Amino acid sequence: MKADLVLSGADVVTPGGVVRADIAVKNGKIVCLTAGEMTPAADERIDVGGKIVLPGGVDTHTHLREPGFTHKEDILSGTRTAAAGGYTTVSGMPNVEPVTTTVERYLDAIEMYKRSSLVDFNHNPSPTRLEEIPKLAAAGALGFKVYMITDKGVSYPHMPELGVHHQGKLFEIGEAVQKTGLPLMVHPNNQELIDTLSDRAIAAGDTSYQTVARLSASYDGIVFDSAISYLCRMQEVLGFHLHVLHVRSPRSVEVIRTAKRNKQKVSAEINPHMIFLCNDWDEIERLGPYALNLWNGPDTTEMLWEAIRDGSIDVIGSDHAPHLREEKEIGWTNMFVAANGTPKIQETLPLFLDQVHAGRLSLERLVEIFSSTPAKLFGLYPRKGAIQVGSDADLVVVDPQKKQVLRNEDMLSKCGWSSWDGREVTGATLHTLVRGTFVYRDGEVVGKPGHGEHAKPLHREIAAQMAEAS
Ligand SMILES: [Zn+2]
Repeated sequence: MKADLVLSGADVVTPGGVVRADIAVKNGKIVCLTAGEMTPAADERIDVGGKIVLPGGVDTHTHLREPGFTHKEDILSGTRTAAAGGYTTVSGMPNVEPVTTTVERYLDAIEMYKRSSLVDFNHNPSPTRLEEIPKLAAAGALGFKVYMITDKGVSYPHMPELGVHHQGKLFEIGEAVQKTGLPLMVHPNNQELIDTLSDRAIAAGDTSYQTVARLSASYDGIVFDSAISYLCRMQEVLGFHLHVLHVRSPRSVEVIRTAKRNKQKVSAEINPHMIFLCNDWDEIERLGPYALNLWNGPDTTEMLWEAIRDGSIDVIGSDHAPHLREEKEIGWTNMFVAANGTPKIQETLPLFLDQVHAGRLSLERLVEIFSSTPAKLFGLYPRKGAIQVGSDADLVVVDPQKKQVLRNEDMLSKCGWSSWDGREVTGATLHTLVRGTFVYRDGEVVGKPGHGEHAKPLHREIAAQMAEAS
């Protein structure tokens, strides 16, 4: 057999551990993991000795802003950025225009990705229309996204149409999603409480970014934690797969740990900002609106690392959420009306590789939270998220020793800035391959729009193939 491509001599992170191996790729799949003379001949052979190969990142939380907000980002610019960041599968979010609440809109979005995406993709719809939930599942969605948050004073990014604040409504969504077997991703928030606290600050004439950031952590984080307690209790009685987004506070981690100990179907996401930004008051002071409108509260850093290491937190979601500078600047004086969100998908892997270098995180655990566990939780494993024979050749080659400074001018997102501008990290993405094709090579995006394919949960694909065969 002649392979299309061999990557030779790297340390490869496989499901069985790290091995020095050559990876042979044919027709987009990994066909051999071997060493020395066992490695087949290939059309192209690339020596990546001294480097590390990871399965490509699987990001189920990517705001690509298309359709509707393409001045901030679009599928093409966002997936170019993802490719540079080592991500090979991304899944968009429903806060686009029109909001993704019906199967027709979902399929329209999928067509846009098919035209423009460099990497494999899906798009997470909102389940606010109960009758659409089974249809969206049948069309191939990976999961559903609920916002328990609606913005105050602005209509974006947390639009009123998508906010779910009524507990009965949330309960009915949980029931309907349970029947699909798909995860329900939830942005936890106690809207009534945060509205009251925000109104008090506004009435006192205080709209500073410091105050808005502190609100989220005030009263020991109850705005966030109380929603998670309720969600976990609801999960317990309904049985759906609850995927908690944006985990950040000590109590939220405690509640999730307890649910997991009870064998509840609960998983949890950390975002890069929760561990490299919202835990650092000095950075929030310095960056103003270019941080976020969130502070975790004091002393959360070690607590969150422990939760990542012990499995209380399952995955990284990039929560790439770009906005233009013009939309951020108002936050210096009125943070309540500044656009909420920051770009992240290009910086996430280097930031975490830097922590592997520092000895805070093992390489194997990084691969779990970056790639294999999201693939498992969202039904894509082992096609995605694994370097093993038969899996898609979704690969990211990294240089664990390469020092780099993250800089605004190197960011490929349309917004053109990073909260981590000026930060030196050890670890860099060299190449990214999607199904055996380079989409990022030696610092250049080389992927073509339309290379990406719709990544559906595998049980859907198998059912479709069986229907076709019979
Ligand atoms: Zn988000």
